[in-house]
Amino acid sequence: MPRLPEIKQFLSSGGIRIYRIPCKVLAELTGRVYLVLEAGPPTLVDTGSGQGDSTKNILDGFETVRRDFGESIRIEDVQRILITHAHPDHCGGLPDLLQRARAEVAIHPLDSRSITANAECVALVRHGIGRLLDQIGVPGTLGEDLLRRHWQLPEAFPAIDVNTELLERNAFDGFRVLHTPGHSPGHVCLLADDLLLCGDHVLSRTIPQLWPESLRPYKGLAHYLESLQTVRAVRGIRMALPGHETVIDDVYKRIDDIDRSERRRIQYVVDVLDQADRPLTIWEISRTIYQQTAGFYASLALMDTAARVEYLHQRGRLRLANLEQIESDPRAAWQYQTK
Ligand SMILES: [Zn+2]
Ligand SMILES: [Zn+2]
Repeated sequence: MPRLPEIKQFLSSGGIRIYRIPCKVLAELTGRVYLVLEAGPPTLVDTGSGQGDSTKNILDGFETVRRDFGESIRIEDVQRILITHAHPDHCGGLPDLLQRARAEVAIHPLDSRSITANAECVALVRHGIGRLLDQIGVPGTLGEDLLRRHWQLPEAFPAIDVNTELLERNAFDGFRVLHTPGHSPGHVCLLADDLLLCGDHVLSRTIPQLWPESLRPYKGLAHYLESLQTVRAVRGIRMALPGHETVIDDVYKRIDDIDRSERRRIQYVVDVLDQADRPLTIWEISRTIYQQTAGFYASLALMDTAARVEYLHQRGRLRLANLEQIESDPRAAWQYQTK
């Protein structure tokens, strides 16, 4: 197994000490949790997945912080756990860590039910994706297969009490909260002086995964693009610390790059439809764009395409070609065209 990235200390302009602790969150995915000291009580931002070695990596990380950086902090000393968003690779470690630390848990209210009523949320999203796959036009039993692959993530998660709502208007000592919906409805970025803990909102190499808003309010491309500008408008961010990948030295440039790529990808959907000799389903559009993508990644690419088609359709740049069929058959695949 490849080695995890090293534990690093970041010092804010006001003297807040932030430790980046990497952890293996899924078989092919490494995450980062952040231990924040001197921004109010000892605080952990995100918790890993609770799967495999994720929690062990975090506990080992505390040991390294004590040994290599001379901090006296132990996991039992953490008084506050802030969750950037309720995806399993960020909040799945909560049950493990709460057994060791009597910490208050804070999350944005639009994501909190994923923690307080996880089983219900998983069931509803599964149901929503099932419906969406009909609308997308996934042929035959492939829909079942994609659904299974999409949900290969952990699901059992005991109900956990949320103590505090992470809202922009709430004063949160040491942090400024920015609500940045899109990747997740209740996604937040946390500003500690001139350092931004940005979860999955801005990543250094990849564009975060998106789903259409029809799946859940405050998801989707329109919210995501708007939330990029929310961060873009904050002055004085010296460095951004994401939940995956590497540190972002120039978050403003990275946001501009992501915005530009995302708009190119939106235009690509229009181009595909312009060049087609008949209306296309989202499935057909996605297969045209992502010919080489298979398995789990094909299901993610499909959701990304659905988010872009929804965005274009909302803005009147696409129209439905088979309205009568949709009206008479609730399971009919939606077909789109540009003119
Ligand atoms: Zn995420
Ligand atoms: Zn993530």
